[in-house]
Amino acid sequence: MTVQFSDAQASARSVISNRLDAYVASHEFDAPTLVVDTQMVAQQYHALKAGLGRADIHYAVKANPERAVIETLLGLGCKFDAASRGEIELCLSLGTDPADISYGNTIKRASDIAFAHAAGITLFAADAEEELVKIAEHAPGAQVYIRLIVEVSHADWPLTRKFGCDRDTALHLLDVAKGLGLDPVGLSFHVGSQTRRADMWTSTLDALAVIWHDALKAGHDLSLLNIGGGFPAFHGEAIDAPTAYAAAVMAQVTERFGDVARIMAEPGRGMVAEAGVIVAEVMLVSRKSERDMHRWVYLDIGRFSGLAETEGEAIRYLFETARDGEECGPCVMAGPSCDSADVLYEKRPMQLPLSLKAGDRVLIRNTGAYTSSYSSIGFNGFPPLAVVTI
Ligand SMILES: *Cc1c(COP(=O)(O)O)cnc(C)c1O
Repeated sequence: MTVQFSDAQASARSVISNRLDAYVASHEFDAPTLVVDTQMVAQQYHALKAGLGRADIHYAVKANPERAVIETLLGLGCKFDAASRGEIELCLSLGTDPADISYGNTIKRASDIAFAHAAGITLFAADAEEELVKIAEHAPGAQVYIRLIVEVSHADWPLTRKFGCDRDTALHLLDVAKGLGLDPVGLSFHVGSQTRRADMWTSTLDALAVIWHDALKAGHDLSLLNIGGGFPAFHGEAIDAPTAYAAAVMAQVTERFGDVARIMAEPGRGMVAEAGVIVAEVMLVSRKSERDMHRWVYLDIGRFSGLAETEGEAIRYLFETARDGEECGPCVMAGPSCDSADVLYEKRPMQLPLSLKAGDRVLIRNTGAYTSSYSSIGFNGFPPLAVVTI
């Protein structure tokens, strides 16, 4: 059922976009630059759609909120999952029908709920009673789904603990929602970002199915299952191909949940990561002493300017240089900022060509997700931290 990439397929896949490579090769960049190919985004949308079948795709805008990305997806019939007023405004400004936008953040400002309601958005997420009270007050009668906590995640970038609630709380919240005059339509979860294989979903789906059926038994008329994101991108370790992956997830969903009226999926990374490449540059290669076993390679991009997901060395990006094929050695990689936390890989050093030197171009592959959005001054559509000087 699942397809694993061979090394040859994997490398073919990582350079699948000739447009991207042609553009990068024919341009000079005086600063680290993410180049995104919207044709590849479209291709990935079709691949995921082919596997997800009847599920609605709500692209998680935070993965990459470039207007051209949203426009491309909108043109293909994609729907959106927004986490803030800023993301909602972005989608609406490009002509998205408010009925196709879900407000999926479980932590919302009351005035933003009111804004969304006034704009015609009718579907909201919650995982706590206080949030339901806010929604009932500012979006009376809205449809809500309750997000469940994922106890065990096999993801490379897990989202556990911060979001969701347990079974008993969820069943209670469905009652509370009804009591507040809301329309509790379903449940949601997120397996964790970069869940590399479809079989890693099984334990989460098993746990969710028990809760789903308990809610039905308790008399809740659930019609919406939101399976969230988690669809992976190729970062060097084998992943299932997108259509096979999505189809395998949907087969597991159907087996456990049967004929749910409405299924939503919210791919972020899996939609856009492979459509982007960052063009970066080596700033400095050095050793701390003559006996230092590792070189230090400092790039012009780091933890705080786009590579936030190197935190904990969780996501290990693929680096490409013009010297690939030459003899390699281990190096610690770091960013350019004056912050000692701006080290990308140290516990597990990267292997890079020994001849690498300052001024060399470095391509960082499959970086279309969670790079520009993390480094923007308005990540996730939230305005930047205000500063007051006196
Ligand atoms: C971030 C997010 C997603 C996207 O997750 P990926 O792992 O990038 O696919 C989906 N749903 C919600 C609610 C999110 O917060």
